[in-house]
Amino acid sequence: MSIQHQLERADLLCKQRGVRFTPTRRNVFTLIASFQGAVSAYDLLDKLKELEPNAKPPTVYRALDFLLTQGFIHKVESLNAFLFCEHFDEDHPMQLLICNGCGLVVELHDAAIHQAFEQQAKLNGFAIISQSIEAHGQCQQCQKIAPNTQHQVPS
Ligand SMILES: [Zn+2]
Ligand SMILES: [Zn+2]
Repeated sequence: MSIQHQLERADLLCKQRGVRFTPTRRNVFTLIASFQGAVSAYDLLDKLKELEPNAKPPTVYRALDFLLTQGFIHKVESLNAFLFCEHFDEDHPMQLLICNGCGLVVELHDAAIHQAFEQQAKLNGFAIISQSIEAHGQCQQCQKIAPNTQHQVPS
């Protein structure tokens, strides 16, 4: 789906929700959407400065807060970075596979994992406020280039 199309979807949602999709918020949205994998606030600020020379760290953090609240992006906790979500118009469970080699982040939406996790929390009398399930490793492509022999079964 093109970024233009994503912007239109996000525009519509903001109108429905009665929130303002300001030019800075749109710029940060577009920057994250055009990024492969997750991007740090610092790198976003660098890119944003090309569009808005006066942009400061709080400019980016405020825009990120907005995009997170609207569900347009996810925070990758273990990288302290941000990931565009293509499924932002539906509430969904999320697990992430993060490649240490190329930075690829695969977003999974397994309801069974989510439910099992919540069930275990409940059994422990625990009330979850926020959660993240993230795995680090190597994507298929990176395994071909530099196989991680430690985890290979001897043949
Ligand atoms: Zn998502
Ligand atoms: Zn990779």
